[in-house]
Amino acid sequence: MCGIVGIVDAGGVSLPLYYALYALQHRGQESAGISTYEGTTLYKHKEHGLVADVFTPANLQGLKGTVGIGHVRYPTTGLNLPENIQPLNFRFRNFVISIAHNGNLVNTQELRQEYERRGQIFITTTDTEVIAKVLIDELNRSGCIEDAVHLCMRRLRGSYSVVMMINGVIYAFRDPLGIKPFCVGKTHGGYIVASESVAIDALNGTLIRDVKPGELVRLDTDGIHSTQIAVCSCTAHCIFEYIYFARADAVIDGVLVYDVRRNIGKKLFEECPVEADSVGAVPDSGTAYAIGYAQGSKIPYVESLMKNRYMGRTFIMPTQREREKAVRIKLNPIREHLRDKEIVLIDDSIVRGTTSRRIIEIMREAGARKIHMRIGSPAIKSPCYLGVDMPTRAELIASDKTEDQVRASITADSLHHISLKALVEAIGFPEGKLCTGCLTSCYPVGIDGEHACERKVTFVDGTYQSHLKSFTKVNGGA
Ligand code: AMP
Repeated sequence: MCGIVGIVDAGGVSLPLYYALYALQHRGQESAGISTYEGTTLYKHKEHGLVADVFTPANLQGLKGTVGIGHVRYPTTGLNLPENIQPLNFRFRNFVISIAHNGNLVNTQELRQEYERRGQIFITTTDTEVIAKVLIDELNRSGCIEDAVHLCMRRLRGSYSVVMMINGVIYAFRDPLGIKPFCVGKTHGGYIVASESVAIDALNGTLIRDVKPGELVRLDTDGIHSTQIAVCSCTAHCIFEYIYFARADAVIDGVLVYDVRRNIGKKLFEECPVEADSVGAVPDSGTAYAIGYAQGSKIPYVESLMKNRYMGRTFIMPTQREREKAVRIKLNPIREHLRDKEIVLIDDSIVRGTTSRRIIEIMREAGARKIHMRIGSPAIKSPCYLGVDMPTRAELIASDKTEDQVRASITADSLHHISLKALVEAIGFPEGKLCTGCLTSCYPVGIDGEHACERKVTFVDGTYQSHLKSFTKVNGGA
């Protein structure tokens, strides 16, 4: 996951980009960067750290121009190296290019090795640079950006929402399966494309629509210009965006995330009711779910854990020990709300199990009598290859355990995960339009050793791409 944004604004873009990145901070905390363009000059600033630390009034002032892009990084591909910080910037002939990407390719190695065999060098270890190489290669052949993006899309497999600035023009495209979110909006002085609608809200703008899967949009002061490059038989929107990753106030592919989570909370009660003194959330990720559960059950919603809002997400800590320590600093129990009480505790997901186990321990130490854990996602069984940090089955507590074994491991009195059916109903898309790889072990793209459910992508020229393998020709197409 990462957050990306591109803005055209007659009044200058450095501050709007800064505010938009601030709104997208939850999507990546490792580094932040902005590139802008004026005349024929690219201005840039990027560093490790949070948006508030990376940018100062002085360096924002240096980011001149009425067009620019920005990125916040959460690494899944590529190491924590300074050269991996995005946007990546290149020059090629007369083109000045800046590019930022959210997603994860599954054929990065294949493409990289192909270019390396041709003697080409790479400066970063990211798949974003691979996208840039493919694009520039195709741009070199065709000389036309629309064609280059088309030819590039045919070679990439995996998830990619990409924003790029070429000689001061913003282009944005989304993979044909629409795995990562991406939307466009209107602001007072121009237009914006961003990972989540919350970035548009931050500028007091208006969400226009989502970037369609397989669509390329160009933004300028006249508006949004669209080219549909590819159409997929069935989308594969990441289900984990709705469960955890996106902000609750985001609208993704037409759906308000907060309401999805609240509905899941209601459904959790319907699937697994229990009598208790109060319903509480693991803040903040469980809050909307808990409110839904409380509304459904008529059990009062009472906060019993207080979050230290100045701490980052615990899973950013590099080792298991540090993660465990961090949970205690992050959450403080409200003893008066817990002593001798039977509590329904709601969280969005259990990934490694560290957080739930530690929280239950803290709540018991504070006097809770019984803790009934209810989880807003089904058990996470399999890794994500498309951009969420759930790397191996060995790290996923539910990969080889039954629900009761997980319950015993986290020491809850009872445990229930929402069913996939109820989750899908709460989101409102058919299951076939979502990527459920981490829950079902069936992925929308071909990955060695994993099951895949085929998605067929048809390009404007009638050729198609199977997402199970690389590229197949029909109709004599290229
Ligand atoms: P844990 O089970 O200790 O890995 O922590 C899981 C909690 O961290 C969940 O309740 C989520 O709020 C949050 N989380 C979400 N995604 C991830 C992830 N990819 N890795 C770790 N934690 C995550």
